[in-house]
Amino acid sequence: MGVWTSFSSSLNAISSPSFCLLKPISSNNNTIFYQNSAPMLVGFQRSYHPLLISCCSSADMGPTSDLRQSQLSSMSMPPFGVTMNDSSSSKPSYKWRRVLLKVSGEALAGDQMQNIDPKITMSIAREVASVTRLGIEVAIVVGGGNIFRGASWAGSSGLDRSSADYIGMLATVMNAIFLQATMESIGIPTRVQTAFRMSEVAEPYIRRRAVRHLEKGRVVIFAAGTGNPFFTTDTAAALRCAEINAEVVLKATNVDGVYDDDPKRNPNARLLETLTYQDVTSKELSVMDMTAITLCQENNIPVVVFNLNKVGNISKAIRGESVGTLIGGTQRSTAAL
Ligand code: UDP
Repeated sequence: MGVWTSFSSSLNAISSPSFCLLKPISSNNNTIFYQNSAPMLVGFQRSYHPLLISCCSSADMGPTSDLRQSQLSSMSMPPFGVTMNDSSSSKPSYKWRRVLLKVSGEALAGDQMQNIDPKITMSIAREVASVTRLGIEVAIVVGGGNIFRGASWAGSSGLDRSSADYIGMLATVMNAIFLQATMESIGIPTRVQTAFRMSEVAEPYIRRRAVRHLEKGRVVIFAAGTGNPFFTTDTAAALRCAEINAEVVLKATNVDGVYDDDPKRNPNARLLETLTYQDVTSKELSVMDMTAITLCQENNIPVVVFNLNKVGNISKAIRGESVGTLIGGTQRSTAAL
């Protein structure tokens, strides 16, 4: 009921049997379906978008019915669940509408003087701000390797792998909260969702709620990885990307992309602009762990690997401009991506 403002009483009047012959037959989120009548506008959401009461015969009913879609579009009003500030007709079109940005913990550490370099978090925040203003929806998965990596600690002092990984996941929450605070300090509404409950500090991960935040122009930071030990935040990035229907994983790292050799040892190492998933798996290129890249491959999610330390790279990657290495598809289809 949070959406109702001053029009709530008029809706009650309309839907009450004593005032109205229309019979409510179904409702879905903020759209109520009535039998045998024309669509009517009865109220406004708090953000002053029209609340639609859609009317149709009971035979056509169903929250996902085609009729509902065509009615909504024919009325040229935004249905709920579509971006509230959607002005797609006037918006320039970018390659991606919803992206998943993966920021590794290592990248957050900058010159490694401290675990987190506030200059890095601020530059991420500024670049993300510049693209959310364009209407591109941004979700972020943060790593935690700048603070703790489970695999490196497991075994020492009797620490089993699962416990070590839970500590690693908690490290990602620290980074997420730091990043959220930085984002909000420059006015970007940001929510952190954790894969396991920590309700005093962040929302639990709820897919639909995450999508709703994105639709409202908020940045969503996914923390605590997948919530399971033995995984990585790269896998969490691929998983969340698939779940929220983001179109691409943008992997921000400390290197320009994927090279055919180690650029630190071989000055002639060549930056590869495009790669297939098979290239990554068969040549065992250390782009992402196998689970993550396989998940991307199975779900046709392209991956862009790029350098976070070059000013403008994050916004370029989010806007879909050519940067770093693009991984996806087969040899032939990669060129078309
Ligand atoms: N982790 C985990 N499950 C996950 C994601 C992360 O157990 O789904 C733990 C794991 O110990 C990992 C640590 O969290 O080493 C930090 O994540 P990651 O190493 O992926 O961070 P990044 O390398 O991106 O900084």
